[in-house]
Amino acid sequence: MLIRGANVVGPRGLQKSDILVVKDRIAEIAPELTQPAGATTVEAHGWLALPGLIDIHVHLREPGGEHKEDFLTGTRAALAGGVTTVLGMPNTSPPITDLATFKAALALAEQKAVCDFGLFIGATHENVDMAWLVEEAAGLKMYMGSSTGTLLLDRFEDQYAHLAAYPPSRVVAVHAENEEAVRYFEKRGQRRPPLCAILEATRAIRMAQTLKRAIHICHLSTAEEIQMVKDAKERGEPVTCEVTPHHLFLSAGIERHLGPSGRTNPPLRSMEDVEALWDNLRYVDAIASDHAPHTLEEKNSATPPSGVPGLETMLPLLLMAVKQRQLEFSDLVRLTSTGPAKLFSLERKGQLAPGFDADIVLVNPEAQWTISSEGLNTRCGWTPFEGWRVWGKIMQVYLRGRLAFANGKVLVEPGAGQRVKQRRA
Ligand SMILES: [Zn+2]
Repeated sequence: MLIRGANVVGPRGLQKSDILVVKDRIAEIAPELTQPAGATTVEAHGWLALPGLIDIHVHLREPGGEHKEDFLTGTRAALAGGVTTVLGMPNTSPPITDLATFKAALALAEQKAVCDFGLFIGATHENVDMAWLVEEAAGLKMYMGSSTGTLLLDRFEDQYAHLAAYPPSRVVAVHAENEEAVRYFEKRGQRRPPLCAILEATRAIRMAQTLKRAIHICHLSTAEEIQMVKDAKERGEPVTCEVTPHHLFLSAGIERHLGPSGRTNPPLRSMEDVEALWDNLRYVDAIASDHAPHTLEEKNSATPPSGVPGLETMLPLLLMAVKQRQLEFSDLVRLTSTGPAKLFSLERKGQLAPGFDADIVLVNPEAQWTISSEGLNTRCGWTPFEGWRVWGKIMQVYLRGRLAFANGKVLVEPGAGQRVKQRRA
């Protein structure tokens, strides 16, 4: 297959090129390639070609929460958003904490996923000595503070033991909010103020520093945290982090307007925090959706859960930011493809380059449209970005060379997604 005349978004910006795909891989990228005999062509003049997005933080809710999402609906939402690889979080019901629960979730994902995927294992009080044995896990997720589900590891002893035991070449991703502080403020009617995140991020970075191991901090939300990550990086420590679209595009003021629909862990923050995240994106390793669907009924109940869906809106929002000159194309690709692939040592993912998987997103950058809950693929059926005017329509998505999404429809069958391979030291 020859994709002709697309503006290829690479680490150095835009370049008009043809992309030759042979079977499931990219064979060649260059201006004006000659069309091999028998090749189909895709005319992509005026369109952008990006590497398929890699979303390293999603909650697909299966097993146990299928009324809000499952591996099929969640990965359909991914494809519709230009995301061709997702890494699923382990706070399901039951949570993924050992080989048996991991294998059961993996079997479901293999049957149902329509994009490529990896799955985390969750750290518990009991699995310090065996979590690392689940070799197929994308990484270890440690809930240093509580969020959705039962996974919680708030004691120093357990946190430190896990960080010491997990192989240094693999990723430990942490939800860093201090549980004692969360509870203290909750009793006083305050929901997870910045101090909760700042305290626990400090602790995470210091533990990793002492153990001389890498640590990845999920969904940074405050100016102080990004400063800490910056400082750690400048000291040469292997501290990495991600930010979410909702912490970049929404703020505490909007949360008051959205009500429980805007409730997330960590919460939406002040405009000063939002600006600090934008200003320091060069210290950020990935933008990840933290796609966390709940039904509107749950969100509007007396005890609303935290989390918002995000897979389908992440790329359009970021393309809008490029249009508004808040972000460069090269940063978009680094934060959503090359960065995540590097962080998780994903084989053949994250770049439009010869030898890489032909995970390709074609976007019409001049199409303006309005985000609406109608036609969303996520089972929860709503978005906190309802009514937003954005630039950039996702025209086609290829998954390992197969046309997987076009004309607003997912075209591949359940099971088309495969587990990602990771290079292991
Ligand atoms: Zn999450």
